[in-house]
Amino acid sequence: METKEGFHGIGRRERRIIEAVGPTRGCGGRRDRLAREEEGGAMIEAGVVVDLEGVPLHWHLPAGRTGTSIPDSRELWDVLWTNRERIAGFAHTHPGHGVPGPSNEDVTTFSAVELALGRRLAWWIASADRVAVVRWIGPGNYDYGTEPLETDPSWVDELRRRSK
Ligand SMILES: [Zn+2]
Repeated sequence: METKEGFHGIGRRERRIIEAVGPTRGCGGRRDRLAREEEGGAMIEAGVVVDLEGVPLHWHLPAGRTGTSIPDSRELWDVLWTNRERIAGFAHTHPGHGVPGPSNEDVTTFSAVELALGRRLAWWIASADRVAVVRWIGPGNYDYGTEPLETDPSWVDELRRRSK
């Protein structure tokens, strides 16, 4: 499987996440078990894949809205992988107000997805009134920086609407 090529040099934890994310894997008990091991992971209510032009490419609207995260969705992974050359990143919502920051689960997921895709992405997070973009700053796998945006991206209002 071609995504396996990016697996060298990463830890067992990331490997397990990627195995849960990976295109040949389903969304079964492995993921549930992994989720329980995480602490305080903010759940993704809605999300959108944004292309390099800033245009929404795919709306990620989990069925049931009980809360989910990227590795739960085979469909989302397929979109990311298929469009990996033309996507700028992925945006998701967090509940509440103020400048949002990534949860531990967010960061490990961002890292695993980027390693599997072989490229870095922008990870926007929108609260009810603010948007921040999270990017890898290195050097460690989980070294991500959060930059609050002063101007909302064009798709944010729709993302918030779809999160309700
Ligand atoms: Zn999150």
